[in-house]
Amino acid sequence: MNDRNTISLDGDRKPVAVIAFGGNALLRPQDHGTQEEQFTLAWKATRWLVEIIHRGYELAIVHGNGPQVGNIMIQVEEAFTKIPPQSLDVSVAQTQGSMGYMLANQLRNRLNEEQLDKDIAAMLTQVVVDREDPAFDRPSKPVGPYYTAYRANLLMQEAGWEMVEEPGRGWRKVVPSPKPLRILGSRLLKRLVEDRAIVVAGGGGGIPVYEDVGGYYRGVEAVIDKDYVASILATDLDADLFIVLTNVPMIAEHYGRPNQKWLRTLPVAQAREMMASNQFPPGSMGPKVQSAIDFVEATGKEVLITDADSLKKALERSAGTFIVADGEPEYVSLQ
Ligand code: ADP
Ligand code: MG
Repeated sequence: MNDRNTISLDGDRKPVAVIAFGGNALLRPQDHGTQEEQFTLAWKATRWLVEIIHRGYELAIVHGNGPQVGNIMIQVEEAFTKIPPQSLDVSVAQTQGSMGYMLANQLRNRLNEEQLDKDIAAMLTQVVVDREDPAFDRPSKPVGPYYTAYRANLLMQEAGWEMVEEPGRGWRKVVPSPKPLRILGSRLLKRLVEDRAIVVAGGGGGIPVYEDVGGYYRGVEAVIDKDYVASILATDLDADLFIVLTNVPMIAEHYGRPNQKWLRTLPVAQAREMMASNQFPPGSMGPKVQSAIDFVEATGKEVLITDADSLKKALERSAGTFIVADGEPEYVSLQ
């Protein structure tokens, strides 16, 4: 594969890729959620993850944790009368541990099978947020299970939860989703990648902490968007490619409309315009494209947005959408 060397780099530093994917890649709504299922899904994920390594990149992985942290919240609540409850930052840390283990375990097996000699480091990652972030005034991110109105009333009164009703589905806890400012310990993550290790970091968007008076970090009840954290990690690691894996093969202009057009190449200026004209909803594609824009503007490098099935072809530039620093948009038809 001589087209691996399309990126020229100093010395023998290999290009670095950072990939972000949702927690539902490792636990889908239709699953029972057993451990066996989760290991099997992790095994499947390693198949597309090694494609990136085969392509010649060093790799850092940022996984989501929505369904997994939801399950821990159910455990915490069910055990309320027996074990003191834990806060959300601790629950996020717990998913970084369990999911990091499952991914690292299955990655190790996959690397062995393919005779790839690499170390794997699953890292607990604290991410700093601003205690003054306006998100703390209006919790908006739904987390955990759906509740009946009866139970929700009780939880709002007794436990002081903020909850919202999703019509037809029930009530859910909402928590603040502040913007991440920086990753604690980026320097170590960078050294690990330079040392050719596969790094799993920033899981679930990171453990949210804020800097208190006197410079002490304290955990806080919040969740951070994993795509934003992945963008910061990709910038900190001087990544050459930032991959955002989702459930659509490409980004479309006028998505879902009769005049919809799929994009292979999306220059950052046009991405910004599409963002301003509300083409990317805040609850889905919005944060992905915003984190892509942030990365491209900070580094001049590229972002690939695609789905797992298209990743291999996308790495050969024949699938997916690339958000790039400049140039013209390129449209394609969906095969
Ligand atoms: P994830 O679980 O990966 O966060 P989301 O469902 O939150 O995925 O976001 C991806 C979804 O964004 C797609 O399935 C698609 O329905 C939606 N979407 C919104 N705008 C666009 C667009 N312009 N191009 C492609 N997909 C879009
Ligand atoms: Mg999403």
